[in-house]
Amino acid sequence: MSKTDKSKAAYVPAEGQKAAIIAAGHLPSAGGGSGETIKLEVLGDIKTAFLEASFYDSQRKGANRAPETRMGRDIVRWAKVGDEIVIGNIGSKLFAAKADATVDTAVFGRLLAAETDPRKVIAKAMKVSGKPKRRQRTVDDFVRNPWVVAGALQRSEGKCELPTCKHQLFVREDGTNYLEVHHVLPLGEGGDDSLSNAAAICPSCHREQHFGENRQQLRQTLATAVAASTAALVTA
Ligand SMILES: [Zn+2]
Ligand SMILES: [Zn+2]
Repeated sequence: MSKTDKSKAAYVPAEGQKAAIIAAGHLPSAGGGSGETIKLEVLGDIKTAFLEASFYDSQRKGANRAPETRMGRDIVRWAKVGDEIVIGNIGSKLFAAKADATVDTAVFGRLLAAETDPRKVIAKAMKVSGKPKRRQRTVDDFVRNPWVVAGALQRSEGKCELPTCKHQLFVREDGTNYLEVHHVLPLGEGGDDSLSNAAAICPSCHREQHFGENRQQLRQTLATAVAASTAALVTA
């Protein structure tokens, strides 16, 4: 993503990226950046699961200049200046990653499973054997305050804090219900590490907060519930 791309709010995909989008079944729209959008699954970024991007040909000023294919909307907001973007397709499914992202094998595997001939998947999987290689990597993450985790767990009274939760909880070896403490507005999106932004929720609800199709709505529901139960603690 170049400075110019960012200021024009338009990413210019490389030829190979354009080819991948076309191979996935989309042609650049002639209607400019406000036309229909394409969906790209984001790999290796826990903050962003999908991008809705426009994909269009932009007529440039000057005679005999070929139109330039551009992408807009989420992709421009997601990428920072200097980010190298990777775009590819497996069948009709499009994905995007930043070149320095560590793509989770589980995510990549799910994509392969969805878009490859099932017999080929099994044949490929059966050929793999032995112990995996090891690797070392450095991790850049947030230092979370343990009191926030403890406070959210205590406030939850052992129940998933998402009021609409219908999942059966399982019990840890120590007899407590298994809950995970999630940040309602994720730290990576600028959220605070505070009791009022933390929620103890079950693993299913937790994954859904991050990856569910209704995650924006679910986030609102959780935010409202947490605000109410935190206020109740203060007045108690
Ligand atoms: Zn979370
Ligand atoms: Zn739940």
